[in-house]
Amino acid sequence: MKIVRVRNDEGIVYGAVEPEGIRLYKGSPLFEWESTEVVAPFDSVQLLAPVFPTKVVAVGRNYADHAAEMGSGIPDAPILFLKPATSVIGPGAPIVLPPDSKNVHHEAEVAVVIGSVARNVRAEDAASVILGYTAANDVTARDIQRADGQWTRGKGYDTFCPLGPAIETEFDPLEGAEVICRVNGEIKQSGPTTDMVFGVAELIEYVSRVMTLLPGDVILTGTPSGVGPIVDGDVVEVEVESIGVLTNPVVKA
Ligand code: MG
Repeated sequence: MKIVRVRNDEGIVYGAVEPEGIRLYKGSPLFEWESTEVVAPFDSVQLLAPVFPTKVVAVGRNYADHAAEMGSGIPDAPILFLKPATSVIGPGAPIVLPPDSKNVHHEAEVAVVIGSVARNVRAEDAASVILGYTAANDVTARDIQRADGQWTRGKGYDTFCPLGPAIETEFDPLEGAEVICRVNGEIKQSGPTTDMVFGVAELIEYVSRVMTLLPGDVILTGTPSGVGPIVDGDVVEVEVESIGVLTNPVVKA
């Protein structure tokens, strides 16, 4: 099932993608929801980020080829950082380049969407707290990240976490979906989810030992090699095979 969050004439509602349109639901898949008789045509709704998390937990250098291009090796344990909820935007919304940076990069990633309260979850139980997966762009002001020596500012700007277009509940990263980034139609990144250094189950165990994950929270699982700059006027797409394509224009502040 592909779950979307949309805005229509009546407000913001959840829905599920069907061949002829989006089946609208009452409630939320994070708590309780119920399908309605209404199927909205695709062009009658605006897609939003499929969740609005309380936090986005991200993992650094989780693909060996990306760690190498950043001049480092594979970490012994997951490198965690947080992106603020206010960095989240949906499909089609612009990534706004901050005046503080001259080198903003795309990072195509798979995002895990948490479906229930998760604290001290063992890796073997991780599937029980996952609602599904979506595509993400861990947009990064690389010059600021390097200058600061930590990542909060460089990765925390408003609009630096596009999510979407849908939450695929049947997705399994162990099947090796390709994670792709295109800028203006040209492929810049491509790598299979099976190249992750730390897998999703291990990440959920590691993160949930530290902080309680709430329904709608998101874990970004790292990016394959090929990160590079995006500039004013670009269109950046993150595609995760069998999830969909997340498209965002890039504009100057
Ligand atoms: Mg990243």
